[in-house]
Parts: sequence; structure tokens; C-alpha cells
Amino acid sequence: MIMQKYLYILLAASFIYGCQQPSENQSSTSIIDTLSIAKHIEVLASDDFLGRKPFTEGEVKTLAYLKGEFEKYGLQPGNGDSFFQEVPLVELDCKPSSELIIEGGQEPLSLEWRSEFVSFTERVEEKVTLESSELVFAGFGIVAPEYGWNDYEGLDVEGKTVIVLVNDPGFGSEDSTFFKGETMTYYGRWTYKYEEAARQGAAGIFIVHQTAPAGYPWNVVQNGWSGASLFLDQAEGGYQPAIQGWVTRDAAIKIFEASEVDMRNFVEKARSKDFKPVSLGLTASTFVENGIKKDVSQNVIAKIEGTERPDEVIIYTAHWDHLGVGPVVDGDSIYNGAHDNASGVASMLCIAAAFANQEVKPKRSLVFLAVTAEEQGLLGSKYYSANPVYPTSKTVANINMDGMYYMGLMKDLTVIGYGQSELEDIAGGLAAEQGRYLYPDSEPEKGFFFRSDHFQFAKVGIPAFYAYGAYEAVDGGVAYAKEVRDAYNVEAYHLPADEFTLEETDWKMAGMQQDVELFYELGKVLGNSEDWPEWKEGSEFKSIRDAEMGH
Ligand SMILES: [Zn+2]
Repeated sequence: MIMQKYLYILLAASFIYGCQQPSENQSSTSIIDTLSIAKHIEVLASDDFLGRKPFTEGEVKTLAYLKGEFEKYGLQPGNGDSFFQEVPLVELDCKPSSELIIEGGQEPLSLEWRSEFVSFTERVEEKVTLESSELVFAGFGIVAPEYGWNDYEGLDVEGKTVIVLVNDPGFGSEDSTFFKGETMTYYGRWTYKYEEAARQGAAGIFIVHQTAPAGYPWNVVQNGWSGASLFLDQAEGGYQPAIQGWVTRDAAIKIFEASEVDMRNFVEKARSKDFKPVSLGLTASTFVENGIKKDVSQNVIAKIEGTERPDEVIIYTAHWDHLGVGPVVDGDSIYNGAHDNASGVASMLCIAAAFANQEVKPKRSLVFLAVTAEEQGLLGSKYYSANPVYPTSKTVANINMDGMYYMGLMKDLTVIGYGQSELEDIAGGLAAEQGRYLYPDSEPEKGFFFRSDHFQFAKVGIPAFYAYGAYEAVDGGVAYAKEVRDAYNVEAYHLPADEFTLEETDWKMAGMQQDVELFYELGKVLGNSEDWPEWKEGSEFKSIRDAEMGH
């Protein structure tokens, strides 16, 4: 069996190498080899690892594998004398009331759960109630000092429930300088709206769903917020509104029509600079009951100490978790998560090994952080950024790997969140050395910059970089790359078909190797530099970093 397996690997390896023409700029003495990346992916995405879901046997196996690899390379534990950081999580199985009752109009209104609204709570309590809470329309629910924008201006929302619009005022304005036009800013994300409502002390918040500015239809909201969800168990984690939720656009119009306030053209009004929040003269009542289950998952963390300035760190991240075992699709129930994100973890392991093999280590420290529970809302990275092992002000940059591509050598390096930080300028130079160009995120309206783990670093001000070659393949060009991405999204994204074995794969690994080499070089440049890359002008994270660094 072992011999046979070995033979397969050799055959597969020659297949992987054989199906690509190494370009001039890809040296054969590369310190990153495709077979190592592929072997890690094969292990992590094997059925044996059960889709790597937190709290399962799949977690136990993944943690053991990562710790074992880091130890094998000679890395040090990254959290004191431990390779782990405990991440306390809580599963809240929300059972919302079947109705949201709106009173104060001519007739009381009863909105129906799922078809007209969804609701949940992040409070770790068995029952949370909203009782005759005054309803206020707070525009887009945004406080953005860099745009001179405050939808909560002059409003005390204590005990009140705010209704806010999805996305930011720039979307649909046909003005690329108004916020960022069609490019979604963080202020447009639903997560931001809930966070801001919590900062303001609101009792409740409902986001008005609209398909175009949300980027997805109502059924995504409906399914996403039904049943059990994982949250960070923040016993002292600060204030949370009692009820968070969404209403359909039609339900919002029903509410607005019940109000005596003239709410015609509410989107236009909210987009105006002179917008002021308005009390609707109505109240909202509903409740949520919770099943509560607490458990602890783990981030895995290892480091290579810097030779001159060990307290300054560059943090590589890749989420180790995926979806586990789920509904059967085409006879398979294991959601292996090969691309998402065994590929990122494998890449990070190869980078760690490459640095460990270098005689001369970088001057700054390198940290390798495999985070948990990304799929449930970037929770492992959220926990790390709230409980950093290395001080935020000493963290130079984050380089995140999530979903590495397999289209052979690439001509582009697609930067998610293009224009955000100076890290892309350094990466751009390295990409040019590989004969590649930087390409901006092709769907900036979808806000992908806010949807993987680097974002939790951005949120606390740490310049964060997320990129991959995915736009133009050397062989096959733009059309082939699009075909591969589309096929993945339709056939494999969050499905059991996201799998990988050396003997069956048609993945062309050279592109992944290119990316991994680039991220290795990026870490090396940053690790030996005395510079502190910054957020660019106009970034919503610049003021956070400037305050942190005392600028
Ligand atoms: Zn992912």
C-alpha cells in the first residue's frame, strides 16, 4: 500500500510538473516546491480530517498536524510556550418570535418571521426581548469621520430600535468620489451596521434588505440567519443590542407607510448630506429565545524570532477550519475544503518551512497563525485581534492566504481591496519581478476585503494584504481563468466537491507556487525592513492605525 501510494505521488508529481511550462522567471532552484504544497493539501483535505470543523475529531487531527509540522521545521511556539490560543465560542440556537409587531400607526402591523424579517441576538441569554421600542430611521447607520458623515448625529438611541439601509450612500450614486462609489466601503457591510448600533447603545437594529446593494437575494439572509450560529463568547465583550435583524424592502415600506412621517424617497433622503435621523412615531416588539452551548476551539500559532527587532512582527494567517460533514451532495457528505482553505494552510506551512531553512533569519519576527472558525464569521481572527499575543502597535503587517488558485502560471496578482495600503506597492514590485502585474479586485461592490481573516487585522489598524493570481493565466488567458473560477463557484464552493487528491487532481500547481513565493518574499522584505507600511489616504482604517501609532 505504501509503495503504491508513493508511486502515485511520483506519478502525480510528474503530472503536475509535466503539464506546465515553467517560465523563465520561475527558477528551478525555488525554495517552494509544488509537491510540498500539494501533499499538505492532500492531508488536510483528506476524508480522514472530516472537513475540519471546529469541535469535531477533524479539529483534533488538524491541530495535531499543524503543531507537528511547525515542530518539525524547528519553529517556536507562538503563544508563550504553547502552539495554541484558546478561542472561547458560544453556539446560539436562535428561535425568534414568529412576529415583529409594529404599533403606533392606524392599525398594529404584524410582520412575519422569515418571509418579512429575520432576527437574532448576540447576547448570551435564554430569552431577549424588545418591548415597545421606539423606531428610528437612521439612514445608512454610518458614522464616518473621514467623509464628515454621521447618521446618528443628535440621536440618543438608548432603548430605541434603528432601521438602516444596506450598503453605503456611494452605491448607486453614480459618483465614484462619494464614499467609494460602487466599491463597497466597510461602512456598507452589515457587520459594521450592527457594530455601530452596539457602539451607539441601540436596543435593536434592522437592516433593510435590497438585492442590488446587498449583492445577494433575500433567501441568503433568510437561510444565513436561521438556526444555530457560532459567536465569540465574550462574557465581558461589551454592549450588544438585544435584537439584530433584517427586514425585506417591502416590509420596510409597510413600516414607513404606517408612520405619519413622510418617508417617500427614503433612500434619496438618506443619501443627502443634510440627512437627520427621524423617529417614526412607531414602536417595535419581538423576542428571541436561545439554546446556548459553549465550547472552546483553538488558533494555532508558531513563530520564527527576529534577529534584531524580535518584538516587531509580521503575521501570516490562513484559516484551518472548514464546514465539516453536512448534507449529502452527489453521494458525498464530507466538505473537504481543499481550495477553502487547505490550500492557504498548506501555503503557510511551506512559507514557514522555507524561512526555517534559511540560515539567516529576518530581523523582525515572523508569526504563523492558523485561525479557527473563519467560516462562522472570521471568529478565530476576531478573537486574536481582540486578544493579540503580539501588540497591535508592534505588528507591521498581516498577510492572509485564503483560497489559493490552481490555473498554472499567472500573469496577474489580484489584490482584494486594491488601493487600501502600501503593502500592495511592495507586492507590486515583487510581482513585477515574476513578470506579473497587479490587478484590482474585479467585484469591489461585493466587499470581499471584509470577508476573510485579514479584515480582523485591518479593523484594529494593522495593514493587511490579501491577494492571489486569478485573473489571467499564462496558458489560456483571461477566459480560461474565468472558466476555472466560475466552475469552482458553481460546482465546488462550500460543497463536498471542493476536494483534492494527488492521483485525481487536475489542479495546475505552478500558480500557487508563484503566489507562495511572492508571499514568502513579501515577508522577507518586510522582515528585514525598518519601514512601517501604512494605509493609503481614503482608507477607512487609516485613522485607526494613526491613533494606534500616535501619529
Ligand atoms: Zn476561506
